[in-house]
Parts: sequence; structure tokens; C-alpha cells
Amino acid sequence: MRKSTAGPKTLMKQLRELMAQDLAPQVRLNRIVQKIARNMVAEVCSLYILRSDGMLELFATHGLNPAAVHRARLRLGQGLVGTIAATARPLNLIDAQNHPAFAYLPETREEMYSSFLGLPVLRSGRTLGVVVLQNRNQRTYSDDDIEIMETVSMVLAETIAAGDMPQAISAKPDSDGRRPFSLQGTALNGGVGLGHVVLHKPHIVVTRLVAENSADELQKLNAALEKLRQSIDAMLERSDVALDGEHREVLEAYRMFAHDRGWVRRLEEAVKNGLTAEAAVEKVQSDTRTRMLQITDPYLRERLSDLDDLANRLLAGLMGRQREAVTTDLPENTILVADAMGAAELLDYPRQKIRGLVLEDGATTSHVTIVARALGIPVIGQAKGVTSLSVNGDAIVIDGDEGRVHLRPLASVEHAYAEKARFQAQRQKAYDDLRQRPAVTRDNVPITMLINAGLLVDLPQLEKSGAEGIGLFRTELQFMIASTFPRAEKQEQLYRAVYQEIGDKTVTFRTLDIGGDKMLPYFRPKGKEENPAMGWRAIRLTLDRPALMRTQLRAMLKAAEGRTLRLMIPMVSDISEIHQTRTLIEREKAYLTRFGHALPSRIKLGAMIEVPALLFQLDELMQAVDFISVGSNDLFQFLMAVDRGNSALTNRFEQLSPTFLRALRDIARAGERHDTPVTLCGEMAGMPLCAMVLIGLGFRRISMSPAAIGPVKAMLLSLDAGKLSAFLNSALDKPCTGHSLHRQLLEFAQDNAISL
Ligand code: PEP
Ligand code: MG
Repeated sequence: MRKSTAGPKTLMKQLRELMAQDLAPQVRLNRIVQKIARNMVAEVCSLYILRSDGMLELFATHGLNPAAVHRARLRLGQGLVGTIAATARPLNLIDAQNHPAFAYLPETREEMYSSFLGLPVLRSGRTLGVVVLQNRNQRTYSDDDIEIMETVSMVLAETIAAGDMPQAISAKPDSDGRRPFSLQGTALNGGVGLGHVVLHKPHIVVTRLVAENSADELQKLNAALEKLRQSIDAMLERSDVALDGEHREVLEAYRMFAHDRGWVRRLEEAVKNGLTAEAAVEKVQSDTRTRMLQITDPYLRERLSDLDDLANRLLAGLMGRQREAVTTDLPENTILVADAMGAAELLDYPRQKIRGLVLEDGATTSHVTIVARALGIPVIGQAKGVTSLSVNGDAIVIDGDEGRVHLRPLASVEHAYAEKARFQAQRQKAYDDLRQRPAVTRDNVPITMLINAGLLVDLPQLEKSGAEGIGLFRTELQFMIASTFPRAEKQEQLYRAVYQEIGDKTVTFRTLDIGGDKMLPYFRPKGKEENPAMGWRAIRLTLDRPALMRTQLRAMLKAAEGRTLRLMIPMVSDISEIHQTRTLIEREKAYLTRFGHALPSRIKLGAMIEVPALLFQLDELMQAVDFISVGSNDLFQFLMAVDRGNSALTNRFEQLSPTFLRALRDIARAGERHDTPVTLCGEMAGMPLCAMVLIGLGFRRISMSPAAIGPVKAMLLSLDAGKLSAFLNSALDKPCTGHSLHRQLLEFAQDNAISL
């Protein structure tokens, strides 16, 4: 049995004394590793520091050969230490030498040590080094050991950052000087923004790490938590967020986290282990960030990023920093640049000064993106390196349509974008002018133009765009931004709000399309899936969970009282799934009637064609439903066996290939044969050239993102649909050669003066 450690508090106290003494940096490090080794009952404690040349150098050791200090070096990613630094994740091994990454450094004479616990030393999200414990016997380092070492590694980070370590990498982000620099991120919200960088949340540096008196620190922590809760309540009462909507859901989740017992307990434990209140927050925050790095599920990451945001607010409160004060003297044209940002943090800034947002992290469904979209702010995500490359006040141009960021742009680039912004504004004006024009082709073919939506913020776009209705309402979005299953009343409330907002226009609700890549953080999948897109998702999942399906159907039936309920089923592979859904609808109708609820005046049930198997049952399908909607995103993915999210394949296959277009034509023709209305609601409906082709193939109803309505309408007003049909049919009836008709179709458009 190994002796127990002296306890985290004793170790922290000893470290505090060492930090207070006037010692040369090397001597201080030597003593620190010695104290850690003794307290942790480890035969070895070593500290490796990441140098500015990217090498990890042994800076101090207790237990390994002292002559190896400043001589033993590893590259990032090399050996166990290099792996920890590269991944920023700890390694806990009983038999280190058998680990595939193990690299033996002869100068250290470490061959006799079997067990190994290594942790990254992190500060402000940067790896400064690695701290390692080793023992001869096969020891399993416990969760408590790891917890203590995490606390210790914070003290080490502070020592490295403060001490004057020759060659050690700087804890401060470095800038690359004043050169222009462009980088590519992901376009999350369109529009061009020109302005000056404001680095969001310059990191709050915690200087007091070790507590003098834990009871006082606990009191401070609890007072700060209480203040934090009050500030969230106040934010929820603000007039611009008080209305129901998804921003509110996001903020309600903050409120929930601020009361989360698990989070508070972890903070309190860190204080009880000897940290100050602010260091405890930083520690728990850094654990959260490490977890975020490991999680690929975007919704879970989003939740953790809410927690990160909350921790920042708490830290600001504890350090006596008023966040509002930071935001008062902003430039008039601010482009916010951040690692990640919480939705509530964006609301801290005055909207009228914000021209754009650039994030190192961030995805389409990130909460901050959802809120930014609601506020009409261009957003770029996944802009790797942007925070370390930019400095407050730098000139910056962002292109939210293309995902490009230009830092310190050349005058010519800035000028070109200023032109683009002007041009966009003019074009938008021209599209706005088309709003009232009926969507009819030159040869008098009326086209029903619809929008895709899913959140309340999308709804005002219906009126603005002049579309005739909502062709696809993705009901899963409400579920994706919530932290628990939205209750029946919440669902009904949303659907009622939709009916209210659309007036006498139409809406087609899609039943839940969750599962696959749209996993909910609070919903347990049926086990690990190798191919989630083809797995337990959409109608397959909801038919297996009838309570879930029936709750949603009931909410829709109630909300549509006296009106037409159009609902459609995603990912149908077999007609029996439509029959089963109809049976569930009938049961819900009977239930509602029994309890005296009003029913919709009409119910129309449709199916989405996304699974190619339906192409071979088109006649039966058209008879089994009231309408069809083609989900071309998924249909293309499954027909060509090409993962829609894999950027390596983006340009390999084309939706304008004769194969895919023939499949679409078959659907349109089957719809006509059976007089079953067919809509297409995938992304291609919003691209003017593709939308032109769809009309040529016989589609008369198309549903797209609201921003696409203007450009697509401009296209169809200049189109002769009959002429295009003849051209397309002759191309598709020929033996299939070449993998795309893209070029021929562009030429057709040019020759016929079609506005693309
Ligand atoms: C589609 O697959 O084309 C579609 C509209 O559904 P989603 O993009 O939501 O999967
Ligand atoms: Mg789909």
C-alpha cells in the first residue's frame, strides 16, 4: 500500500510559501517539483516547459537524472510528454513503457519507472508545459491524485508565466507584426463587415491562486454566485430579450446552469482544496474547456460553452471587473474577435456598433450564431488562429458569405469589399422591389416560392421576402437549442406562434428529424452508430418512441385548431411508415375529440423523398400521401453515397449530374401523373441555377432559405420554362455522358439572358 498524500491543502500551503520567497526561477522550480513528489508520494516529479521553438525541455526534476535538466528534449507530439502537450489532455498509465507513444530518453535514466501520470500545464488555453509523476511500482493514480495535480499545474502555469524562464513560450498571445493576413473560416451568417478588431474578453488573469483562508474564499464565491444569478435574471428582463423566442431559451439555460448544483459543488471543492475563489473558477473553467475539446457533439459543446461564458462572468465579478465597462468605449465599427463567445456575452455589446463577429470556434447551430443571425450580424466561425493574429484596433474586413477574414487588409482589398458591401445593399434593394411581383415565369408558369424555417426568428422573413408560406419547418431546431425535452405545452406554444405569425399563409411542419448528426444532448441514442446518417434517426426513431411522436402530433393538432395542418415525415424509406404515422394521428385526433379539443379543419400528410428506395415505389407513394417534399440534400447524399458533411467530397459529385436530374424528373412526373403536389426543399432550391433547372424538370413549388427568395425570383421572372424543359429533356434523354450539365446550363442561361 502506498502512503496517502499529505492532502491538497498542505501542498498548496507549501507551494504558496515557495512562491512568496525571493528565489531564482530555477531554484524555485527545483523546490516545487521536490515538494510535489513528496506530497504525491511519487518517486519522480518532472516539469517540461514548451519553448518558443516548439521543443519541450526538461526544466526541473526530482527523481530523474539531474544532468538531464535542460538537455532532455522532445518535439510536440513526440513521446508521452509530447503527446500530452500536443493534445492538451492528461495521460494516466500503469505501464508507461508499453504505451505506443513512449519514447525513451537515455539521458534521463527513466527506464525503471513503470507508472506515469502526466498533465498539461495550461494558461489562457495555451499549453505552457507538462508536469509528470512517475513511480516504480505499478500504481494507479486516483481521480483525487489527478484533481490535486490539476490544481498544482495551475500554480506551475502561474510560475512559468511570471518567472523569467529563458526560451519559455510566452503565455501571452503573440502577434505576427503588422502585415496583412487573410484566413479562411466557415461562413455562418452572411454579409460583409468592415471595421476594427475588438478582442472579446481579453483574458482575466488570476493572480491570487492559493487561499489564505478557505472559509473566506467560500463566502466570496457564494456571494459572487448570488450576484451572477441576479444579473442573469436582470438580463432576462431586458426589453429586447424579454419576448419569447430562442434567445430566451438560451438565456434560460444560463439561469439553469447558474443554479446547477454539480457546477457549484465543483467550484466549492476546488476552494476546499486550497484555491482562492477566482482560481477555483478558473480551474473548473479549464476542466470544462478540456471536456469541450474532447466532445465532438456540437450541442453538447454548445452547452459547455454556455458554462464557459458563465464562468467568465463569475470571474469578472470576483475580480471586481464590470463587463459593461469594457464595452463602453468601443469603436463605431467594431468587429468582435473571440475564441468562442456565449450568446449572452454578445448581448452585452451595443448592437449599433457591431459590424461583425469572428470566432475561432463556432458552428451554424452555436447559440451565439443563432442570436447574431437574429440581430443581422455577419459571422465567421472556425477562423483558426484569428485571436493570436489580431490586436485590438487592427483594421479588419470580413466576408460572411465566403467565410474570409482579412486582417490589416491592403487598401485595395478594403476598397473592393467596401464596393461589395455597397453592391449588396443595392442588389438587396432590387430584390426588395421584386417582393410584390407574382412569381411567374416569362411564359406564364406560376411558381410557388416558400421559405425554410425552424425558429421564431425566421418568421419575420416570411413577410419581408414576400414568400407564399413556409415549405419546411424544421421542428427539431426547438429541441436542439433546449437543454431538456421541450414539454408538450412549449411545443404547442411554438406551433401556435407560427400560425399566428404567418396569417393566412401556409406552413408545412416536419415531424422531428433528430438522430444521426442531430443528436440531442439530453437524449440517449440506442448505442454507438457507425453510420449515424443512415442510422436510428427521424421517422425510424420517432416510430420507436411513440410517446415522443404522439406528444408532438398532439401539440401540432391542438395548435392548428380550425386551420389546415400540413405535416410531413422525414427519411421515409417505406410506405408502411406513412400508414403507421397516420394511425398515430388518428389516435391523437380521437383523444383530443374525447377531451373536447378543437381539431384542425383539414389534415394533409406528406412524405419527404430523401431515401432512394422511394424512387422505386413512386406510384404507390404518390397515392399514399397528400403531398411530397423532396429533401434533395439527403436524397443526393444517399443516391451518390456521398457524405453531405465531408468537405473533401464537396466538389467531386454534382447535383446537376444527369443521373440526379433524371431521378428528380421522375419524381416531378410521378407527382403530375397522380396529381400529388411536389415541393423541393433542399439547399439546391435556393441556388438560382439549380432552381432554374428544377423548374425545367417540372417542379412548381420550391422552398429555400429566406435570403434566396430575391435572387431566385429574379431568375424565374426572366425564364422561359417551356424552352428550358425542351432543352433539358433532350439533354437527359441522350445516353449519359459527362458527369455534370453545369456548363451547358450556364450557357443556356447566358444565351437566354436569364438573371443568375
Ligand atoms: C434535405 O435533406 O434536403 C432536407 C431538407 O432536410 P435536412 O437538410 O434538414 O436534412
Ligand atoms: Mg434531410
